[in-house]
Amino acid sequence: MVNRRDFLKICAAIGTAATIELYSADIRDIFTQAIEAHAQGDKVRLIWLAGAQDTGCTISLLQGSDPDLIDVLTKFRIQLDFHQTLMIPEGEAAMKRLKDVVEDKSRVDVLIMEGAIPEGYFCTVGEIDGQPVPIEDWVKQIGGRAKYNIAVGQCAAYGGIPAAKPNPTNCRSLSEVLPDKTVINIPGCPPNPDWMTLTFAQALQGLPIELDEVGRPTAIFKETVHSGCSLLGYYEEGVFAKTLDGPGCLYKVGCKGPLARADCTVRRWNQGLNSCTTAGGCKACVEKGWPDEPFAPFYEEAADIPPSAALGIDPILIAGAATGAAAVGAVAYAEHRRRKHKKEAKKETGAEQ
Ligand code: SF4
Repeated sequence: MVNRRDFLKICAAIGTAATIELYSADIRDIFTQAIEAHAQGDKVRLIWLAGAQDTGCTISLLQGSDPDLIDVLTKFRIQLDFHQTLMIPEGEAAMKRLKDVVEDKSRVDVLIMEGAIPEGYFCTVGEIDGQPVPIEDWVKQIGGRAKYNIAVGQCAAYGGIPAAKPNPTNCRSLSEVLPDKTVINIPGCPPNPDWMTLTFAQALQGLPIELDEVGRPTAIFKETVHSGCSLLGYYEEGVFAKTLDGPGCLYKVGCKGPLARADCTVRRWNQGLNSCTTAGGCKACVEKGWPDEPFAPFYEEAADIPPSAALGIDPILIAGAATGAAAVGAVAYAEHRRRKHKKEAKKETGAEQ
């Protein structure tokens, strides 16, 4: 079984993509250790709020397999005090869970926010003394008391579709509503269930989570979707598909993989079956500012792909490299990936130039 230090080393060395796959049993143990280490052996108290959203993040989490959501809630001894889709209590009994936290009658350890947060009465949850309560008020009160604030999904992390221009309801992200708190962002529309499970495991264990400049765990959101794509070889050779079903790289029919940082094409989805690049192209739903330009229009070539992308080099990785040595390393890595994926892509299908 891995311990805390080993777990960190594993994440750093092989990345979260492989960590979940190879160490799922250990991750389960880490949840258990976290609970055992918790003061008085209490359960971790979790409140999951939903604002402007479509419940897709919850549905995605339900697709997790090892561990799945039932494992997370039962074996890892998390007490889910409020989740409007999954909880059994309703009406007054449900609202009491939130009121008790606000009135300091019960504690909250983790707030998970799903969905953007509209202004005032554009989105309300329950009533107090017959008056609807804006979701924004719940978020400020509960998030202000929570040890961890986690935004799941593009909408909670950056505003997403509800905050797209012209944003008439003034939808905001969790970090905009809680400017004084550290917010861990797990974007995506929806996020991969592994991203959520792994981040919850690290947070519950009290492990430091390195975040990038837009609040995402760097272990998951470091490299571009493009750099791990099985169609990268086509891109390199200028073989572009004319329709969404290919053959060839989907860049000219709107794939935004070069603009998106996430491990989708390496980890893959649906128990490793596929990713967006094998189903019509990446839309860059993990990036701040999505779905407005440069991520829109969805089915047109991006207007301003950095020139380095044309060389098969991860443009964001290069931009973030602090030294010449790091840049050289990144180029070597990109070349290695390029050759590997070119070989794989050619095996998969023949393509027309
Ligand atoms: Fe893959 Fe899209 Fe990059 Fe083409 S542009 S190689 S389809 S990620």
